[in-house]
Amino acid sequence: MKKHNLLILLFAVAAIMTGCLSKKQAPVTQELYGTYKGGEVYLLTLTNKAGNVLKLTNFGARITWLEVPDKEGKKENITFGFDTFDGMIGGDPYFGAVVGRYANRIAKGKFTLDGVEYSLPINNGPNSLHGGPAGWHSVVWNTEILKKSDFPSVKFTYNSPDMEAGYPGNMSVEATYTWTDNNEIIIDYTLTTDKKTVFNITNHAYFNLHGAGNGDILDHQLVIKASNFVPVDTFLIPTGELRPVAGTPFDFTTPHTIGERIGENYDQLIFGKGYDHTFVFDNAEEVDASVYEPVSGRFMEVISDQPGVQFYCGNFLNGTRIGHGGKPYNYRSGMCLETGHYPDSPNHPDFPSTVLNPGETFKSRTIYRFSVK
Ligand code: BGC
Repeated sequence: MKKHNLLILLFAVAAIMTGCLSKKQAPVTQELYGTYKGGEVYLLTLTNKAGNVLKLTNFGARITWLEVPDKEGKKENITFGFDTFDGMIGGDPYFGAVVGRYANRIAKGKFTLDGVEYSLPINNGPNSLHGGPAGWHSVVWNTEILKKSDFPSVKFTYNSPDMEAGYPGNMSVEATYTWTDNNEIIIDYTLTTDKKTVFNITNHAYFNLHGAGNGDILDHQLVIKASNFVPVDTFLIPTGELRPVAGTPFDFTTPHTIGERIGENYDQLIFGKGYDHTFVFDNAEEVDASVYEPVSGRFMEVISDQPGVQFYCGNFLNGTRIGHGGKPYNYRSGMCLETGHYPDSPNHPDFPSTVLNPGETFKSRTIYRFSVK
């Protein structure tokens, strides 16, 4: 080998080694949390450089704790979860979980693909909700700590078998959480199937920017960059129309508190028992929604490439779930911004398609970013 070639080779090896060594392993700890149907359930603690803590579990690929400072620097958990694993298996309303195969409702639990009718478990009035009672929120996912990531990061994977909960196709799903030093939870989803199928994936975290269990969310100031929303019937199934928000209590294109208009005598607030509706993002991948809570100063932004968001303000919470620190999660004490497709899309051909074909890979990213103002 000529001398200058040898020098180039030595430089290359040195550069690669320096790169490897300088990349410090981001801090993620893993401990056993429980077992479920023979699978090991872990609690994963992700600490970013700002010293803020996100806790995840592979039971339902859930967020179960999120500790961020208020404007005085006081840290508090602002998302719903339980102190022990037992709390999670009592049929909680999807706290922090990845929901699938179809997040939200499918009317009467039926849809047709290529002339074949599929039947799903009915678990919400006459409808199928959130992939049925044994959906992705309640299975044990595989866990991989991504040691080479610049930030604490955990990948959860699950192989959903053909006809699980009535849906066709072996589906492989990945949900990767990355907790950046800028206090962003980045959630990356990847889905594939071996048969034509339908899906709608989301994260169902509940937030209260006062701190989880500290009163209601009615004073939270919400912005959703959506000129239209998806009206529903009394069973929360879309009527099929998109309705402009202008002039209605659904206009959050400028900041309004959640409580300001929630009691108005407006058909959709009556059908939803409050806000429990999909808003259609005007401009996916910008900051699509934000929430500000003036007492703590906490501010949350939501950025997603999904077509919309289900804004649910905890209308069905009733204090029977006792969460972290023994605090009950009362009526309207938490809010969800569940990014995704519209409810019941498989039965509405003019809604954005939720079909996935073999050979296709669905990839999507949602970011929840936290700061103070
Ligand atoms: C739905 C609500 C439901 C909640 C918990 C939300 O996604 O829109 O109607 O009560 O999930 O199940």
